[in-house]
Amino acid sequence: MNKETTLNNFGSGWYSLIEQVYTIQDQLAFCNGIYVIERKNGMLSVIFKRTDLTNSTHEFILKSIEYRIERLSAKICEECGQYGLRRTDLPRVQTLCTRCYALKYSEVNTVPSLVANQQPQDI
Ligand SMILES: [Zn+2]
Repeated sequence: MNKETTLNNFGSGWYSLIEQVYTIQDQLAFCNGIYVIERKNGMLSVIFKRTDLTNSTHEFILKSIEYRIERLSAKICEECGQYGLRRTDLPRVQTLCTRCYALKYSEVNTVPSLVANQQPQDI
């Protein structure tokens, strides 16, 4: 999957992280591109292609980078790039800041009219 296609699948808050992900293959000779890049449990999950599947040192380094990317994405709002948290009570689990979460939450939930705004009830 090329970078442009990937960027279109995610919110712009993660763009700089994704840009970084796409530089790994240029920096590590034993990384042969990106096998999978997807949203998983609200985080960015990346699996790099390995040039040598039997080299345990290469495996350790790439696994560490994959893990680090996932942990970073769990703290970055996917929509705006501010500090975010994983929001598990949305139809699609996402990492969002408070503001983006509130907007998304109200998009998917109908807010009942406030009881406090009603006229007093005659009993
Ligand atoms: Zn946000």
